[in-house]
Amino acid sequence: MSTVGFIGLGNMGGHMARNLMRAGHSLVVYDANPKTVQQFKSEGATAASSPADVGAAAKEIVTMLPSSPHVREVYGGKKGLLETLKEGSLCLDSSTIDQSASIEVAKAVAERKSIYLDAPVSGGVLGAQNATLTFMVGGAGGKPELLTRAKVLLDKMGKNVVCCGSVGSGQAAKICNNMLLAIEMIGTAETMNLGLKMGLDPKKLASIINTSSGRCWSSDTYNPCPGVIEGIPPSKGYEGGFGSALMAKDLSLAQNAATTLGAPTPLGSLSHQIYRLLAQHPDFQSKDFGVVFKFLSDSKQ
Ligand code: NAD
Repeated sequence: MSTVGFIGLGNMGGHMARNLMRAGHSLVVYDANPKTVQQFKSEGATAASSPADVGAAAKEIVTMLPSSPHVREVYGGKKGLLETLKEGSLCLDSSTIDQSASIEVAKAVAERKSIYLDAPVSGGVLGAQNATLTFMVGGAGGKPELLTRAKVLLDKMGKNVVCCGSVGSGQAAKICNNMLLAIEMIGTAETMNLGLKMGLDPKKLASIINTSSGRCWSSDTYNPCPGVIEGIPPSKGYEGGFGSALMAKDLSLAQNAATTLGAPTPLGSLSHQIYRLLAQHPDFQSKDFGVVFKFLSDSKQ
């Protein structure tokens, strides 16, 4: 089984990397947080001291980083992957970033006679943990052999791999999905909050919504009201999960695209403003994006 390089071992990447190890791959790992790297070393991975070290050690590399500047830095920065990438390497970037950043990095990787696919994910931390993620792959359109090669790794971290087309198309799909996710999460949070204030039991309200026309992922799988679903971040003090600041970032990517292309997105725009407020709020910025429920329920009118 091949050696895989993995860079970015956070809430998502940590689980994804462990699933590759469980499937029998040897891992060479790097993260900006040395404690995380040490933790993986204690679990059997080889610790690298820079992205360049990873590029020198593996021809299949997964990156799972917060946003576009981090991806540009890891690939093109000092001691970046591009310094050492071996010819014929495959780089799978699962970060959610600007479509234009993916296209730019793909070009730089192609100059090293290697391949970069954008492969952002949906499914959250639980999906990463349980290897049930959906991967939206850009760059393998019309190249089935490339998709087959990528799937050797992606199938071990997820259960759906969707070929979206050319490089950057995975990011387009992901950004559209997350704009809808933000809209439905805010809608679910304000609905749950109103129902509670009207005297309804939160679990009962959620179960009614989940068998009625208001059902959505945020109501039945990731309900933001604490205690409705055990084991998810909203029931654990909004720790872990998908950070509010990351959601604000995804919504800014959607708004940039909508402005450039002239697509009207009034609810996406409002959701962006709400998550920008959360991302700047000292109590909420590092919390899971379901914390919008607490933001609303704590608000005094
Ligand atoms: P995270 O902040 O938990 O993890 C990011 C990791 O990258 C951290 O361990 C950090 O130390 C590391 N890092 C940052 N800069 C680095 C650098 N220059 N070099 C090496 N490592 C660096 O984020 P996450 O929640 O795991 O999300 C990662 C990506 O996945 C984001 O783009 C996010 O939008 C996307 N995403 C997240 C979720 C979710 O539920 N958390 C779901 C789908 C997609």
